[in-house]
Parts: sequence; C-alpha cells; structure tokens
Amino acid sequence: MNITHWIDGKQYESIPPRTRTLYSPRDGASLGTLFLADETACELAILSAQRAFETWSKVPVKERVQPLFRFKQLCEQHLDDLAESVSKESGKLPAEARAGIEKGLECVEFATSLPQLLPGQLLEVSRGVDCQSRSFPLGVCAGITPFNFPAMVPLWMFPLSIACGNTFILKPSEQVPSTPLLLAELLAEAGLPPGVFNVLQGDREIVERLLDDPRIVAAAFVGSSPVARAVQERGTLAGKRTLALGGAKNHLIVVPDATISLTAKNVVASATGCAGQRCMAASVLLAVGDCEEILAAIEAEMKLLVPGESLGAIISLAAKERIVGYLDRAEASGAQLRVDGRGITRPGNYVGPSLIDHVTPGSPWATDEIFGPVLTVLRVKTLDEALAIENASPFGNACSIYTTSGQVARYVEERASAGMIGVNIGVPVPREPFGFGGWNASRFGMGDITGTDGIRFWTKTKKTTTKWSSPAKESWMS
Ligand code: NAD
Repeated sequence: MNITHWIDGKQYESIPPRTRTLYSPRDGASLGTLFLADETACELAILSAQRAFETWSKVPVKERVQPLFRFKQLCEQHLDDLAESVSKESGKLPAEARAGIEKGLECVEFATSLPQLLPGQLLEVSRGVDCQSRSFPLGVCAGITPFNFPAMVPLWMFPLSIACGNTFILKPSEQVPSTPLLLAELLAEAGLPPGVFNVLQGDREIVERLLDDPRIVAAAFVGSSPVARAVQERGTLAGKRTLALGGAKNHLIVVPDATISLTAKNVVASATGCAGQRCMAASVLLAVGDCEEILAAIEAEMKLLVPGESLGAIISLAAKERIVGYLDRAEASGAQLRVDGRGITRPGNYVGPSLIDHVTPGSPWATDEIFGPVLTVLRVKTLDEALAIENASPFGNACSIYTTSGQVARYVEERASAGMIGVNIGVPVPREPFGFGGWNASRFGMGDITGTDGIRFWTKTKKTTTKWSSPAKESWMS
C-alpha cells in the first residue's frame, strides 16, 4: 500500500524520489510505503491552500464552523477505523488510541464554538469616538506533528486554525502518516472546500521547506525540544508567527500522607500509559520522607502490566534500544531496578514497565527524557528539596503532587516550575477551554497551543477608531 499526500481535496500520488517503508511497532508487520513529498507536491499544496484562502477567509465564521460539526460526527462514527489506524502505526493499545482521538475531538468541539468566542470589542473611548477590534485570519498556516499522538496533536491545531479562516498544511510525523489522510477524507465528506486542509508527508527536509516559504505565514510545531527550538528559530527568522512545543521530564512529588492505593494506580497509569511515550507522562518520582508503602504499591501495580495486552509498544526498534540502554546504564551505576522491563521476547517493540529506585539527582535517567515506560525514583527529605530538583529541570511541562493536604498541594502548585500542575492527577492535561502548554524548554514561543490562546495564535486583530461628525440638524431626525 502506498501512503501519499492530500492536496486540493484529494489524494495526490506521484512517484517521489524518496520513500520509506513502514512497519507496525505492535508486531513488525509491513504497513506500506510512505511517499515523501517532493518539490512538486509542496508547491501544489501551497498553491492550493493559497487559492482556497481567497474564498475561505471571506466565509462568515458561523458558516465556517458548519463542516466541523459534521466532521466531529463523522469521526465519532468512524472512531474504530481511526483508532485502528493510530494503533497499528504508533503501537498504542486500541483503548489508548480511542482516548487520544476523543481528546482531539474536544478541540473540534471548541473550534465549533468560535462564533461565540470570536466577537471583538467595541467601546466609546471618547465622546462620539468608538474603538473596535476585529479578528482576521492569517493566511496559509502549517502544522508539524510528532509520532505519539497521530490524531490528537493535529486536532489541537487544524480545526481551530481553519475555523479562524486560515487554510492549513499538515506535515505529520513520517512514523505515523496515515491517520491524517483519514481525517482529510472525513473533512471532505463533511463539506470542507478543497485546499482548506492539505496533508504533505515528509521529514526534516519538508519541514524546513515549509518553514522557509514566505507564502506560509504561521507554523505550529509539537515534538522534541531540540527540534522545537530549531523550528521556532527558523520559522521566526523567516518572518513567521511560530509556536513550538517541546519535550518534557515530568516530576511527581509524593508525600507520606498521600492515599496509598489511589496514588500507586495513578502514578503507574501516568508513567506507563501509551508506553510512557507522552509529553505528560510521569518520569521522575520524588519521594519525600518515608514513602516506602507507596513505593511498594507502585512496584506491585507495575508488575501487573503485560506488554502487548495492558502496555503498548515502543514506536521503533531504535527507540526501544535507547530505552533499554538507559536501564542498562542505570543498573551499572548502582541504581536498583525494582521492576525491570528488559528482555521482553514477544514480537514487536516492547519494553516492560520499569522502576528505577535509589537514583542520584543529576544522573541521565533523572534528567533526560527517556520516553518509555520507565519511572525513576529520587528519595528526598523535604518538600523544598523535591521542589529544588523539579525547578532545576530545563523542561517545564507538568508537575504533580500526591497528598491529602490542601496546604501542601497549594505550596507545590505555587512553586513548581511547570505550565501544567496536577493535584492527585498524574496526567494533568487541561481540557478545553483551558490551553495546553508548558514552560521553559517544553515550549518555545508565546502562549498555549489550544484554548483561547490558540484563537489568538491563529488570528490577527485590527483596531478601528471611528468618529462621526456632530448630528446633522436634518428635519427628519426628530
Ligand atoms: P521529533 O522532534 O523527532 O519530530 C517531530 C516532528 O518534527 C516530526 O514531524 C518530524 O518529521 C519533524 N522533525 C524531526 N526532526 C526534525 C528536524 N531536525 N528539523 C525539522 N523537523 C524535524 O519528535 P517525535 O519523536 O516525533 O515525538 C516525540 C517528542 O514530542 C517527545 O519529545 C515528546 O515529549 C514531544 N511531544 C511534546 C508534546 C507537547 O505538547 N509538549 C506533545 C507530544 C509530544
């Protein structure tokens, strides 16, 4: 099977100079050949999006959101097909794939409420003088997305962007390219005009091509921090509005008064859900004081997980080997592997759940984004010591506190250096209308990618100041 592009409302297929064979992380089955975009495909997508912008940007917002209502319904009807597409290419469990799509559909729901959110302001700023602000679309926009949420992260971007009146070119991860093509078909069935949404398959070369092209006026990116930084710099240099979300190393702080079984279940779900390949995954557990019972419960909970049944696969063999390398080196350094995820023999790229205890702050497994089902435990004496470690991380996506004390929760909430905080919640993803976005090296650029910040990102405002001369003394006025 050939996996190609979506340009101007249809599949676009021409023999490209570069291809890539895809294999399923679940079992190694061959999934087809990905066609990477060449110059002609890029040019056709940009021209189509430019043409479509001329008409789409002038459609009133109440009309623009109508295809999105139908699109959401169609996605719900085809949820199983979409989830299977996500699962076979990313290795997620089917339930995880469905949950990701459902989260993404909340962003479609948010985009459909744009007519209620977009009205500008009008104020009489001086006698007889009104100032009014109105939002306008930007033009052709691009979205560049990672492998770990093949539907959800694109859904963070394009529904809101096109509802705002822009046209869109999505460059999905070359590791999970198919689901956006299904979304494109459903958008067309929902009545979205050709050219408003396009999909270009490719890798770094295509990203750089899109970032450098002056006809694309804004770009949103989600992926690892080094690439996010490079994309933000390149896009900004090319004069684009750019927002780039990066990687993470999330800290969970557990204090002795936390509820044992709820905490253990929640921490393990955060660290191992989607096989730990989430930018919101628990990565470091900071155990304050005597948390031995909670750690034992976490260990027991992890040991219940079965790779391939209750734990998904790792995206590639290279990623699996990278994770195993961290476990090898952690063990060699003297850390204790209380749960050891190495040596899984079933076909596919699986690493079992792993719990590394007695880790020294500053070691690579305490600071690097491992992006696997691995939880590193650092033992500290005080809450301030835990916060100092969390604050020293270059990342800043999420931080959670497990406690039964409101005072402790507030202390952490105010001092953690992260954009998203969980209180007894290990994956504190803000749901619409709250925006998704971290701090520090987890985000380059201004604002969150979803919620009301998303509306600001995908629009520009115009302020008009109006003065009418004194009322005419016409006889028909009174
Ligand atoms: P990645 O950075 O390797 O790739 C992301 C996208 O960038 C892909 O489309 C890829 O084709 C492209 N790309 C790769 N290298 C590039 C380069 N040098 N120049 C330009 N483009 C390039 O990320 P990934 O491995 O696909 O995804 C996992 C990463 O994404 C993790 O670090 C994870 O934390 C992060 N992530 C962050 C969020 C968030 O909201 N902060 C959400 C999901 C994933």
